[in-house]
Amino acid sequence: MMPDATSPRPPLPLPNPVVQGLVAVGQRFGQQGHVPATSGNFSCKVGADRLALTASGHHKGRLQPEHIMQTTLQGQPLEAQQPSAETALHVQLYERYPWVNAVLHSHARSAVLATLCLAQHDTVTLQGYELLKALPNITTHDTSLTLPVVPNSQCMAALTDTVAQALVRWPDAPAYLIHGHGLYTWGATLADAERYHEALDALFQLELARQRLLPIP
Ligand SMILES: [Zn+2]
Repeated sequence: MMPDATSPRPPLPLPNPVVQGLVAVGQRFGQQGHVPATSGNFSCKVGADRLALTASGHHKGRLQPEHIMQTTLQGQPLEAQQPSAETALHVQLYERYPWVNAVLHSHARSAVLATLCLAQHDTVTLQGYELLKALPNITTHDTSLTLPVVPNSQCMAALTDTVAQALVRWPDAPAYLIHGHGLYTWGATLADAERYHEALDALFQLELARQRLLPIP
């Protein structure tokens, strides 16, 4: 029988290391309480034109390989699963920064608390910590890092718009926060994105503790 030229071509299988990498990040995030319930979502760029993305509705700490799905770079599903509700925020980062190959979103407690307790003028600033050097383009503790905090919204178009404005204003930020919601980090590799997330989680915890012990007058 002749193949039907109108039927969609099945996607190539995702590379195993990409799938296993995302599952492993989920397990580590789950162990640390960064992705309670079914929150959070992760993605990696695959080749020039596909994303590997966590499908919607699964606990990210207990991901199975079949919970990682494929979309186009624009976030259109290439298989019969529902991509994450926040896919547009991943797509936005890949479109804005061509060097980015991985995006991680968590609901880490430290990040949520940072938006509630540390934010001033829609930003959170961290300064003077040796651990800042874990973040890109920082080589000394004697500096400060400002991260944008955008208001949360259930309207993805509105959220994407406010994030776009924040990224224009803070083009070098390696992450952004969503008020009362969580954290987005990204990197040239999945390992980079996870390391930035780990450093920021620790820095938020340090700053929250410091301000409790030594309130700013
Ligand atoms: Zn979220």
